[in-house]
Amino acid sequence: MATPKIPLVLATTNAGKATEIRAALKGLPFKVMTLAEIGVKAAFPETGKTFEANARGKSLHYSRKSAFLTLAEDSGLEVEALGGAPGIRSARFSSPGATDSKNNLKLLRLLKGVPAPRRKARFVCCMVLSLNGRKLKTVRGQVRGRIAAEPKGDLGFGYDPVFFYRPWGRTFGEISPARKNTVSHRGRALARMKAFLAGRR
Ligand code: IMP
Repeated sequence: MATPKIPLVLATTNAGKATEIRAALKGLPFKVMTLAEIGVKAAFPETGKTFEANARGKSLHYSRKSAFLTLAEDSGLEVEALGGAPGIRSARFSSPGATDSKNNLKLLRLLKGVPAPRRKARFVCCMVLSLNGRKLKTVRGQVRGRIAAEPKGDLGFGYDPVFFYRPWGRTFGEISPARKNTVSHRGRALARMKAFLAGRR
């Protein structure tokens, strides 16, 4: 007999994040659903000053909208030469209605002429799991890389085409979501969350 699946709501509207989280949870006994699939309108303002505050806010807020486990995350890119920017403003770096390509262009413009050793950056992810307005678990993950001189690859999303991962000699834009999950900030956070979820079953 098939194992019954536990409903798990992904509190994100970012299609790139949802693809990666679904890939990471594949094979586990969860029925992964988006907010749209459970009929909840996404409208939580990200006003926190840290990734954790935003992830916690989203997770608690959306967990009150259903009776299901709710997983939310906040993530972004921190560039050393820019004092940690864009950080929590990663999604709206170039303007409030920014697109990924405009954000990447702004980043490359700000780093123009900066040599490779000074283009160090990291992706950071904070993920919070909640149920009925109660926080169950917080996990984090990060991955270090460098900002490339120009975008490469059309896989992934956001800053992936300009995030050069030195051990593989490629940008994240050149790597599939499943492979990216094995080293990425989100993949690492998810591995910790999966260990927690496995212990709860
Ligand atoms: P938020 O968590 O919805 O505020 O958005 C995070 C933003 O950070 C995304 O819109 C991307 O611009 C960026 N970001 C976070 N994780 C990744 C990633 O794995 N690849 C590329 N960009 C990312």
